[in-house]
Amino acid sequence: MARVADWRLPYDDKYITGHYGTMSDFRRKNGMQPHSGTDWARPSGTRIPAIAKGTVRLIQYSKVLGWVLVQTAMDKDGKIWYLGYCHMDKKPGYSVGDKLTKSQTVGLIGNSGMSSGSHLHATASKTLKGVFGATSAKVDLYKLILENTKGSEAKQADKEVEKVVEQVESKIVYACPHCKKELC
Ligand SMILES: [Zn+2]
Repeated sequence: MARVADWRLPYDDKYITGHYGTMSDFRRKNGMQPHSGTDWARPSGTRIPAIAKGTVRLIQYSKVLGWVLVQTAMDKDGKIWYLGYCHMDKKPGYSVGDKLTKSQTVGLIGNSGMSSGSHLHATASKTLKGVFGATSAKVDLYKLILENTKGSEAKQADKEVEKVVEQVESKIVYACPHCKKELC
């Protein structure tokens, strides 16, 4: 049976300014790869919530991605992913090996590295190194999050259906114990 993976989107969809795999005119003109993560534009200093529970695996400064924190996260199939939070305002206050719970603050939104405005560039990769650069190890983080929130949402929906069924059944009064029809 598939596990229920309890992941979350860091911010509302309305703040997304760049989806995975998109190719802007700027990128094309500058010979850049398609976008390798998902961008959410938020003001500097906004807290970044952990997308899922996991363990801090890397804290690094990169010329391109600025301050980066990478955590592990387990998906609904038990597979481990590396989630990267990039362009943070400063070095996040964690050490490698620290545990994170879902929604725990991993750092604050910033504009470090090659970034033209304060935003979170977040990525998902099958490998730790894959977080840096456009590699085949990367996948669409946004889609991956949605796949891993479905389990818990579906479970919740099932519970609600069960409740409604119970309520409906408790209202039915069988008048006849033999044929169980009302007004028999
Ligand atoms: Zn980006």
